[in-house]
Amino acid sequence: MENGYADLHVHTKASDSTFSVEEILELAKSCGLKAVGITDHDTVEAIDLALAAAPNYGVEIIPGVELSAEENNYDIHILGYFMDWKNKEFKQKLDELRANRLIRAKLILEKLSTVNVNLKIEEVLSLTESYTAVGRLHIARAMKKAGFVNDVPEAFRRYIGQDGPAYVKKQFLSPKEASDLIKNAGGISVLAHPGVLNNYELVESVIKAGIMGIEVYHNEHSGTTVEKLKALTTKYNLLITGGSDDHGAGKSKILLGSILIPYSYVEKMKLCRENFGRDK
Ligand code: AMP
Ligand code: ZN
Ligand code: FE
Ligand code: FE
Repeated sequence: MENGYADLHVHTKASDSTFSVEEILELAKSCGLKAVGITDHDTVEAIDLALAAAPNYGVEIIPGVELSAEENNYDIHILGYFMDWKNKEFKQKLDELRANRLIRAKLILEKLSTVNVNLKIEEVLSLTESYTAVGRLHIARAMKKAGFVNDVPEAFRRYIGQDGPAYVKKQFLSPKEASDLIKNAGGISVLAHPGVLNNYELVESVIKAGIMGIEVYHNEHSGTTVEKLKALTTKYNLLITGGSDDHGAGKSKILLGSILIPYSYVEKMKLCRENFGRDK
């Protein structure tokens, strides 16, 4: 009999979800979840808020983060779990990544203005909190609000997606830098949604950069993908994780609790962190 379930990939208002930590905890409780992983892009601002609120809901908070790396023009996401989120070097790097996100958002708006989409940065920032890591999803939502597009996917398709006229790259780390940043703060590095990359040669090369686990279970993974990824975890002796990648109402539908992994996987992560965490 399984000892509860966890959703280990959830965004909050600190990055590009529309949900506060209270809304996430409420939903997690109603789904009967034992644990939720808070994995915001380039920020750990929601973790303390979530930890403070969690006892009121009886849901365990797993501290996490999602970093963006790049190799061969692929946007490779790397999750971190159980790192010391107050670690000075770790926080400093996140501050730098967030500052660059703001600069990039302004550059995207400049490019948008050349294709007659005139948005002010204030219209984007009005959708965020002061501590939020600003991203393309906020810009897409601001474009929708101002009537330039009908929905978020249209904003990506026509303007800010990788092939769009207003695409601007983020500040990327290399997969090794991202993984090391997490491990140097005592955390576990996990390759997020590898199935989305659809390039198993690349996946193996990222694993060799020092990744400790794979997000085998994810909304965008088919049954075949799950089997392929499971085989890789056996081949390289990696941890298995999984999560919904919920963004609240920020994308299209609410996904929280749609991907559940047995809590025993979380226990394996904790054990791994105790054994290897700080000396990695
Ligand atoms: P950023 O980190 O600013 O590049 O933004 C990435 C966010 O945009 C992530 O939450 C992605 O899942 C989301 N995203 C990327 N492409 C699309 C798309 N075509 N439609 C909707 N969301 C997308
Ligand atoms: Zn996101
Ligand atoms: Fe991601
Ligand atoms: Fe994510």
